[in-house]
Amino acid sequence: MGSPRLYQVHAIVLKDREVGEADRLVCLFTLERGKVWARANGVRKPTSRLGGHLQPLCHSRLLLARGRDRDVVSQAEALHTFPRLRSDLPLLAHAMACAEVLEGLTAEEQANPRAFHLLLRTLEGLEGGEGTLLVRWYEVHLLGALGFLPQLFACAECGASLAPRSHAFRLSAGGVVCPACAQRGGPSLPISLEALKVLRWLARHDFPQVRPLRLGAVAQEVERLLRETFRWHLERDVRSARFGERVGSGLPLP
Ligand SMILES: [Zn+2]
Repeated sequence: MGSPRLYQVHAIVLKDREVGEADRLVCLFTLERGKVWARANGVRKPTSRLGGHLQPLCHSRLLLARGRDRDVVSQAEALHTFPRLRSDLPLLAHAMACAEVLEGLTAEEQANPRAFHLLLRTLEGLEGGEGTLLVRWYEVHLLGALGFLPQLFACAECGASLAPRSHAFRLSAGGVVCPACAQRGGPSLPISLEALKVLRWLARHDFPQVRPLRLGAVAQEVERLLRETFRWHLERDVRSARFGERVGSGLPLP
């Protein structure tokens, strides 16, 4: 029997699940191969040297061995464990929600380096003291990286240009619709001109340009529109976000 084929990945641990006596299945988002589920044998034993490098949200360099059904973690070295995130429950809830939507909207073994770097940058930013504005920026850009960004610049139904006024946001149509299309029925959410401008600004800019933005009263509307967009694509609520609402947000307001 030949030795198992080993390969190295850079990974962020999205979530994990206990299996067997002392093992875990870890869901990784890898730079090289996208989402990969791998088995980590013996990591629940106190003597395990792997466990600390495979906690959810850890950014680690891993050596994986091709297995018959699941690949197996052979070596792990944490590059960043984000200790501040782990010690702050509301912050942790935001970070877990970022990981959860990426996990929920991706299929296994489809590399998406842009999505990997978005999550890594967002975890690093939250660890460094950034607030919910970074989470909103992440959400918009992740939707873009996965091909799910709602149409914000023209009517999603008929392609007409959008007058500078409040509109309707119709997820079944794929984004904002003009007043004529909004009247033709189908459920939609109202979207104010201000919220539309914020979403466009987020979509068009890198975080350093977004950072000075102060959302004020429109922050809740933007959050809700994005939450509904994720709910539509996931076909369920983002669980970590609801956990975050329960523990309350200690984050600075955007
Ligand atoms: Zn239209």
